[in-house]
Amino acid sequence: MAEKRDFYEVLGVSKDASADDIKKAYRKLARKYHPDLNKDNPEAAEKFKECSEAYSVLSDEQKRAQYDQFGMAAFENGGAGGAGGFGGFEGFGGFGAGGFGNGMEDIFDMFFGGAGGRRGSQADKGPQRGGDLRFDLNLTFEEAAFGVEKEISLYRDETCDHCHGDGAEPGSKVETCPDCHGTGQIRVVQNTVLGQMQTVRPCPKCHGDGKIISDPCHECRGTGTVKKQKNLKVKVPAGVADGSRLRVANEGAAGAKGGPNGDLYVYLFVKPHKFFERDGNDVYCEVPINIVQASLGAEVEVPTLDGKVVMKVPEGTQPGRVMRLRGKGIPRLRGTGRGDQLVRIKVVVPTKLTERQKAVLRNFADVARDNINPEEKSFLNKIKDLFK
Ligand SMILES: [Zn+2]
Ligand SMILES: [Zn+2]
Repeated sequence: MAEKRDFYEVLGVSKDASADDIKKAYRKLARKYHPDLNKDNPEAAEKFKECSEAYSVLSDEQKRAQYDQFGMAAFENGGAGGAGGFGGFEGFGGFGAGGFGNGMEDIFDMFFGGAGGRRGSQADKGPQRGGDLRFDLNLTFEEAAFGVEKEISLYRDETCDHCHGDGAEPGSKVETCPDCHGTGQIRVVQNTVLGQMQTVRPCPKCHGDGKIISDPCHECRGTGTVKKQKNLKVKVPAGVADGSRLRVANEGAAGAKGGPNGDLYVYLFVKPHKFFERDGNDVYCEVPINIVQASLGAEVEVPTLDGKVVMKVPEGTQPGRVMRLRGKGIPRLRGTGRGDQLVRIKVVVPTKLTERQKAVLRNFADVARDNINPEEKSFLNKIKDLFK
């Protein structure tokens, strides 16, 4: 946020100005910069906010005293305190003054999944953007990895076929509203604390449509949209992750009376795999081998997303060793190439040995006594010191 100007300077008054002088100065500025009179001038909206904030402080005896003593610091925390009442004007910057606050409704539709609660207001206003919709889509691990095209079924607002969305029964008379002459807006002059002020409002006679429909469409009761089941193909790209979402433009609810459609948001839920685990674009799995394979080395079959491959386990492989199969992971979303598959080796120690197997192992132990491996040797040396 830019450095705030001194409140007295903003209103163009001296530090010892009377309450009356402050009020007069503010009225003059507010009239000059009021957003309704400066539709295409964002600078004016800024100025209006600035002088409103200054006035809200300087017109309040207590706040003015605080300001005189501590300056701007008195209002830094808690959002320039006094300006709270004027917070509503933020909207002029954020949503633009176009239409009747359409932007606001869109945001609510996003949260409420569209459609709900809007139907009532739809008949009262001109062209409106359709609501955004959410659809939850379950994918298998492989579908998320390699992409898939899915057919989904939605129940959503569609443009009414009968009236083509304009809300009038075909062939019926549609008149231009005499009150607003088709603009859908009227200017209202109000007496306020700032003096006379002009504001623009939706025309009450035509509810902002600009036309009077004597015979509303029988199919949609004049709203221009009807609820329908709709099947849709959604293309899921390769490499999508659990919890991500796809935006399908214009596939949300139909706009009313010529307004644009909303968007469809497809939320993706990826089912866990019974063998693979995913970490970004890499795929993890665990492969068991026996002590003989670990000791002597072996070639083992490992499942991958592309089918089985033969992996060479070198002799003397320790439990927990991770081996990498390059390029066998998940394709990179919006990129090239693939992650890797990481194979964790699990060495399984036999539990139910036959007498003969035990004999062989005892035999092995006899032979191995003179051939202790380095790790074991260093361990034995360490504990020797421990018990001295
Ligand atoms: Zn209709
Ligand atoms: Zn009207």
